[in-house]
Amino acid sequence: MKLIDPIVQFQAEIQQIRRDIHAHPELCYEEHRTADVITRQLQQWGIPVVSGLGGTGVLGIIKNGNSTRALGLRADMDALPMQEINSFPHRSQHEGKMHACGHDGHTAMLLGAAHYLAQHRNFDGTVYLIFQPAEEGGGGASAMINDGLFEKYPMEAVFGMHNWPGIPAGSFGLTPGPMMASSNEFYVTVKGKGAHAAQPHKGIDPIMIAIQIAQSWQTIVSRNASPLESVVLSVTQIHAGSATNVIPDDAQLVGTVRAFSNDMIDLVEQRMRAIATHTAAAFDAEIDFEFRRNYPPLINHPVETAFAAEVLRSVVGDERVNAQTEPTMGAEDFAFMLQAKPGCYVFIGNGEGDHRDAGHGLGPCNLHNPSYDFNDDLLPIGATYWVRLAETYLKKATDAAI
Ligand SMILES: [Zn+2]
Ligand SMILES: [Zn+2]
Repeated sequence: MKLIDPIVQFQAEIQQIRRDIHAHPELCYEEHRTADVITRQLQQWGIPVVSGLGGTGVLGIIKNGNSTRALGLRADMDALPMQEINSFPHRSQHEGKMHACGHDGHTAMLLGAAHYLAQHRNFDGTVYLIFQPAEEGGGGASAMINDGLFEKYPMEAVFGMHNWPGIPAGSFGLTPGPMMASSNEFYVTVKGKGAHAAQPHKGIDPIMIAIQIAQSWQTIVSRNASPLESVVLSVTQIHAGSATNVIPDDAQLVGTVRAFSNDMIDLVEQRMRAIATHTAAAFDAEIDFEFRRNYPPLINHPVETAFAAEVLRSVVGDERVNAQTEPTMGAEDFAFMLQAKPGCYVFIGNGEGDHRDAGHGLGPCNLHNPSYDFNDDLLPIGATYWVRLAETYLKKATDAAI
């Protein structure tokens, strides 16, 4: 592994920042303290900062030389509304809030890169350090885009990185094309007619209709979607009724749909609506149908993905880079940035869990788990990747001629 020595030397400082952010988690669009910590550090290192982009987003700008070329490196800052069960000193100080997705580590890795890039400036052009808010369901990436991120600060490409438990620390996964799924929510209400449960013939039972709809929806995955495509349709909530002897007026079906293409989401939404509407009509009931599109599929661009893989190989060696990693049905709002700009998103292995507090069971500990912690060993590895990516992308003309 070829880590950059000054970054390794600076690890203790970056780790301290990471643990401080971990101890003070903030939720979607409330990342004021986190944004302040980032801003203070960047300014201390002489890096100009734009604050309040897309709410609490922060943009650091490192410019060098005369080139108008530019790229963006993105980290996320927000935590999750859940209770941490770890007992180490840097555990969450905020009740019911926790950095269980490692965004504290993503922020710290980008800060580590920023510190080095600002001091050494071995590139020609501009590196934009994008610290986005509200990745966990708040669409912070699109908030920054809508606030003019790419218009006011033109960049050719944008790159993202997320830690991934279960991949060995120091190994990376990436793939061209779809890497994470589109996530969507549905809220469907079957409007029947309540009755005494002993007189079902006087009502329209929404529960029986809701069950038929939920079962028929599964034929969308098995009969309408191509068997070669991945799609998930999960009904995760059914709400109806409040008594043993009353047929309620309404029943609600709630859940999620995941797929890797917008065409597939279009197909699933259209079939869900048709099945719900016509099934209800067959029983003289009506439907309220709401389908919310949250995040689009995350699609890596082939050229930038090949470039990122090459840079990674130069840092950690061929054997630690899986350039055909398996996509996941999880979602990620960096997808919005990759719709607007070419770029690539990579997984950095968070290890097998050896770095964790003892006593929370075996295994690597998945993201969003109450005993999760970001692996500090990744800090110099991720920061080195960011630096080499920027330096290679914005190579000086004199270097390129060699
Ligand atoms: Zn998450
Ligand atoms: Zn995350």
